Amino acid sequence: MKALVMGGGMGGLATAINLLDLGLEVELVEADEIFGGRASSWLDEDGDMIDNALHVFFPYYANLLNFFKKMGIEENILWKQTEFYYMQEGGREAVLKFANLPAPFHAAVAFWSLLKNYTAVPKWKLLFTAAGMGGAVMYSNRKIEKLDEVTFGQWLVRRAPKDAFLPLEPGINGLTFTPSWMISAKVMLNWFRKVAADPDSARVGFANGGLGEIWVDTCLDYIHSKGGKTELKKAVSAINFEDGKVKSVTVGGKERTADIYVSAISPYSLRSVLPKEAFFYDYFRNLWHFRYAPSLSLQVWFDRKLTDVDVTFFSNNCIFNTYADLSNVLPDIFKGGSMFEMVLSPADHIEGLPDEVIFDIAIKQIKGLFPGAREAEVRKYKVVRERQGVYRALPGMESHRPYQRSPIDNLYLTGDYTKTHVSSGGMEAAIWNANHVAEVIALDKLGRTVSLNVEWKPKKGLTPLLKPATQVGAALGGLALARGALKLLKASRSED
Ligand SMILES: Cc1cc2nc3c(=O)[nH]c(=O)nc-3n(C[C@H](O)[C@H](O)[C@H](O)COP(=O)(O)OP(=O)(O)OC[C@H]3O[C@@H](n4cnc5c(N)ncnc54)[C@H](O)[C@@H]3O)c2cc1C
Repeated sequence: MKALVMGGGMGGLATAINLLDLGLEVELVEADEIFGGRASSWLDEDGDMIDNALHVFFPYYANLLNFFKKMGIEENILWKQTEFYYMQEGGREAVLKFANLPAPFHAAVAFWSLLKNYTAVPKWKLLFTAAGMGGAVMYSNRKIEKLDEVTFGQWLVRRAPKDAFLPLEPGINGLTFTPSWMISAKVMLNWFRKVAADPDSARVGFANGGLGEIWVDTCLDYIHSKGGKTELKKAVSAINFEDGKVKSVTVGGKERTADIYVSAISPYSLRSVLPKEAFFYDYFRNLWHFRYAPSLSLQVWFDRKLTDVDVTFFSNNCIFNTYADLSNVLPDIFKGGSMFEMVLSPADHIEGLPDEVIFDIAIKQIKGLFPGAREAEVRKYKVVRERQGVYRALPGMESHRPYQRSPIDNLYLTGDYTKTHVSSGGMEAAIWNANHVAEVIALDKLGRTVSLNVEWKPKKGLTPLLKPATQVGAALGGLALARGALKLLKASRSED
């Protein structure tokens, strides 16, 4: 049985591997001049590594980590300390440092550590942040599901004064490229619950080099060793239906056929190559709900060190929110001065600006945050515009994500935007969906049940006791109040 996989990003490559392992013949076509899609990297004209974007890994990426293990590349993720640095004007650092304590105390201690030096918001407001997020940890899954009806901003406004949640904004922007007043509350609270679930889950891992080399090349070797075929610069320009099935796909003006077709391309690209009759199905009409949340990536090489920190930085009110100094993260690769790699998001208001203007805004902001940069010389910078963005995880979007089995018998969909409970997108979603589409194909076409995906299981810690403890606390508090009131009543009666 032959499968034609459209798209060679992380999702397409992993799908091709899974299908080859099931014994299928696989042909993969990719429109771009490189494989890897958004999770790619390359060398520039000076031989410097250019990442398509700063990618970080979390320990709760259970399926991605299994896939990396299977490919023998898990050692290439460098796990750092569970801390995040907030850089503030004039070089003032505040640190969110998670402690090695049972959850949720690890997060409470982290918040306490941030409180000491974080000055963008008055401390009394930050107590509302702690109370709001502490409450969210106790939400049931059902309640979290319901929160896909409102934005995170709407959820916040009922819980805290203005700006109380400012420290979360860089993380929200860095993860979703969408501000809090637009992003689904479910998406953000799900993420927060993962980080708060386990003392280790706030640990960030970086690829020990370019994903192009570590991930993409390894996948290609595996695919070719199993007889799979891959081609670059081969865009699918049409998916052709006949008698309610895919008859062929058009690539480079020529029709190609297979027994099954797997789309691992973006929802925007897919909806532009589907035939008109596809949109009689709600399933395919849903693709038109997807809106693009733009991002840009900026790499800046300095002639000297600006910091020794080797974890992720956050900053508020900058065009970059999340960034890292890769000369500390990957000292063997980025030698000499600092090399800042920054995700610029949300990028709606800057994506149309020329590179020089974007760099000019960024460097002024960097100099404000890192006084050392005022004396430093910029050796070079690079703005990456291609292969950027994610879909905008607005309220209600979860219900529009397509399941991997389409209503067309021989057409399947995968990619990070397709349906999964693990997250709204990102690398774990791309791998989970690549596994799930193979599970579904095995069942439908080979009559075989295979289990590729696993559930991430956090150490529970003391979090399950939090709700009963709060309820007992509230009951005891109520009892004490009632007793006090009774005493007062008795005293006032005896005075009468
Ligand atoms: C700035 C940035 C930072 C990110 N940081 C993180 C992070 O820290 N952690 C994390 O988990 N995730 C991160 N992500 C998300 C991660 O990159 C994606 O989730 C993942 O790469 C998605 O893989 P995919 O295969 O689903 O999609 P893509 O990578 O988009 O792959 C789709 C492929 O299809 C190809 N294609 C499109 N149209 C056609 C066509 N008509 N014919 C043939 N081929 C076609 C494209 O060229 C592309 O190669 C980040 C993304 C960006 C942009």
